[in-house]
Amino acid sequence: MTLPKCPYEKRCGGCSLLDIPYEEQLRQKKLLAERFLSRFGKVQPVLGMAEPYHYRNKVEAAFGRDRSRHIISGPYEEGSHHIVNIESCLIEDSLCSAIIVTIRRLLSEFKLPPYDEDTRSGFLRHALVRRGFSSGEVMVVLVTATTVFPGKQNFLKALRSRHPEITTIVQNINDRRTSMVLGERDIVLWGKGFIEDTLCGKVFRISPRSFYQVNPSQTEVLYRRAIEAAGLTGQETVMDAYCGIGTIGIIAAEKAKQVIGVELNRDAARDAIGNARRNHVENIRFIAADATAFLREVAADRFPLDVLLMDPPRSGSTPEFLAAAKTLAPEKIVYISCNPETQARDLAALTDRYRITLLQPVDMFPHTAHLECIALLVRK
Ligand code: SAH
Repeated sequence: MTLPKCPYEKRCGGCSLLDIPYEEQLRQKKLLAERFLSRFGKVQPVLGMAEPYHYRNKVEAAFGRDRSRHIISGPYEEGSHHIVNIESCLIEDSLCSAIIVTIRRLLSEFKLPPYDEDTRSGFLRHALVRRGFSSGEVMVVLVTATTVFPGKQNFLKALRSRHPEITTIVQNINDRRTSMVLGERDIVLWGKGFIEDTLCGKVFRISPRSFYQVNPSQTEVLYRRAIEAAGLTGQETVMDAYCGIGTIGIIAAEKAKQVIGVELNRDAARDAIGNARRNHVENIRFIAADATAFLREVAADRFPLDVLLMDPPRSGSTPEFLAAAKTLAPEKIVYISCNPETQARDLAALTDRYRITLLQPVDMFPHTAHLECIALLVRK
């Protein structure tokens, strides 16, 4: 089988494995997982995707100009702030990519300048498009340097008429000198300001700034395997730490006595509370707090915890969180990680009290070097 080619591959650098057949990518990812994790036990074969293209439900593009002053949009070249001007992408959802290209054309038509990082002038910095694969809803977030939006109504009308699939448009204001894409302020320009999507039979509301997994079909594989590993019987008290918009906890709740979710991002925590209500899940509570601070607090109160699910960001958890986890001493810890290096570091801090009985990598990001892995720890 010939492999699809990407004309931007060299400059973009995002899909470093694109020239390797998918089955071979999965074998290489298993070797990578083994390099960090085999000292804790046997690493299972990586759970891969049947159709590993156009899986990304979220597309982010930076806007700028090329040397001839033409407006360009796309990802940054690896390790730089040079924009790779792209028309399409093999891993992005095609509709999301097409909407970005339309926004680029509309900027020229409406004479709206892209933002210039050097002079700190101009209008549009980034665009973010998110699509609910099961709901079909599409959210466009226009990240602008100022609140002023010349010709706003006509721009929105043109965008919506070219892409009737769009269900909501939000303006996000980012006026700071920062590499963060999104600023602190959202203005809903059209529609309800969020989209919904279904995962494992539950409906989730996704706000512009909330974390939401980018590969929904593999997210279901990941969550099912993680919840299965927890071996819930309906009697357990479960903590979903680093819970985002509450997805794992809400899906696990029907198999548990009660669930507590903790999440730092206030928008995500608010979405999580709404999501529990939306799905009529009553045995779950969410706390907007730093997971380490919260875990230390409940550990000091000797809170009885049976299962700890944790899914920290790439930097992993903290020594204080892991120490508090050992004080709480749940019978099982299910640790989901998107970085085997920090996962290995954190697992090493737990092995005096826990046996590691499962190491299950899941391919959430085909063609890229990223690796996701579930570890199941059982109290000794
Ligand atoms: N389990 C969720 C989210 C995983 S991503 C899902 O599958 O969708 C990691 C989450 O950790 C993000 O939502 C991020 O906002 C949150 N986070 C980062 N640092 C945190 C901290 N110190 N305390 C609590 N949550 C944190």
